[in-house]
Amino acid sequence: MNYIYIQEAMKIGSGKVSVRGWVHRERGSNKLKFVTLRDSSNVIQCVFEQKDFEKRWDEIDHLQIEASLEITGTIKEDKRAPTGYEIHVEDYTLVGSSDKFPISKDQSVEFLADNRHLWLRSRRMIAIMKIRSTVFGAIDEYFKSSGFYEYHSPVFQAVQCEGGSTLFSVDYFGKKDVFLAQTWQLYAEPAIFALEKIYTISPSFRAEKSKTSRHLTEYWHAEMEMAWSTFKDIQDHGEKLIKHVFKKVLENNKEELKILERDISKLEPIINKPFIRMTYTEALKVLKEKHQMDVEWGKDLRTIEEEKLTSLYDVPVICTHYPKIVKAFYMMEDPKNSEVVEGCDFLASEAHGEIIGGSQREHDLEKVKQRLIAQGEDPANYEFYLDTRRYGSVPHGGFGLGVERLIKWVCGLENIKDAIAFPRTMERYKP
Ligand code: ATP
Ligand code: MG
Repeated sequence: MNYIYIQEAMKIGSGKVSVRGWVHRERGSNKLKFVTLRDSSNVIQCVFEQKDFEKRWDEIDHLQIEASLEITGTIKEDKRAPTGYEIHVEDYTLVGSSDKFPISKDQSVEFLADNRHLWLRSRRMIAIMKIRSTVFGAIDEYFKSSGFYEYHSPVFQAVQCEGGSTLFSVDYFGKKDVFLAQTWQLYAEPAIFALEKIYTISPSFRAEKSKTSRHLTEYWHAEMEMAWSTFKDIQDHGEKLIKHVFKKVLENNKEELKILERDISKLEPIINKPFIRMTYTEALKVLKEKHQMDVEWGKDLRTIEEEKLTSLYDVPVICTHYPKIVKAFYMMEDPKNSEVVEGCDFLASEAHGEIIGGSQREHDLEKVKQRLIAQGEDPANYEFYLDTRRYGSVPHGGFGLGVERLIKWVCGLENIKDAIAFPRTMERYKP
């Protein structure tokens, strides 16, 4: 039998077809049974008539949600059917019967999380996972077509880069100074001397203790690092990357965005309009003028302030030149003002928050050492990294993009947990 996807069968639209999938919905009487069959491509209504299956009617009558079936029958247009087509079943095989499926309507978030392995089959999760697949492909495509090499860093690391408070320690054969990667950065910088322009998409781990709608403990991190960059290059690549991803999702996933009830008009400006670029100091001024909010110079922007700032625009804000004290040790001091660094946060529209953190890197050996000490680190543990500043140091920079945050934004999700199949947070690491 030549099985085709439901979507293809509907495209053919008439005649005999064979499809296979899972029972999405079922209802019936003693004469007819309606099964909505689901495969990865779509759903379709299938009708069984009792008179065609007298000997097997008991089996058909007892078909449960999520039983797997192979079906052969005649397809035709039917306006009343959920997706506009119906298959009149002529033959079928019950491949795997199903117990009573635990997920029905109106279940709690907790229940769905406990049954995540089954909830993945929902149309909502299928739509999100398809968009996720597009997003990963688009990131790859952007970097490859911009001359970046894919490069991989270790997950077990003996250094920290984004602050000790979110490190996960690992028992490494009894040694305790081993952590899961928060970022690839300290292992990426050494490689730019070999490959110049590199990127990766890989998991990062952060022991996030606060419950927010945009922090996971394990997330996928798209990172890039490049030699000879200017600070502007870093911002330009971030903006072009986001535009490319949004464009690909709009091209490939209109159906999925519809299932998610995403307002597409919100996505178009991201592709077509330049992002807003402003310094941290300008951002404080805007917050004061437009929202009467006072932020003391030198304090990091909090979520509420980021949301107020971005609510003024329909594109992201690239906020630059933060105070040195709120940013990581590796960020380049602004040559014109040593109080600030050439670091940038991309703040998404529609209150989705920080999507990218990036910077030009400090390439002066002594300054890097001093800032490590200021952050309570022992430079001796960073010798391999400091060698990047000893042997032919060059201007360079890079950024990290949280892929689930980008998916949350493009799909318009309320919580980052739905942007990944099996989310990991402080409370949840099962199933
Ligand atoms: P935040 O202030 O939101 O915690 P951060 O400043 O810690 O972010 P970076 O260290 O700059 O973030 O990491 C780069 C990117 O990785 C962020 O811009 C964000 O998109 C993503 N990211 C960081 N932490 C998480 C997390 N816990 N879960 C999901 N994505 C994250
Ligand atoms: Mg953080």
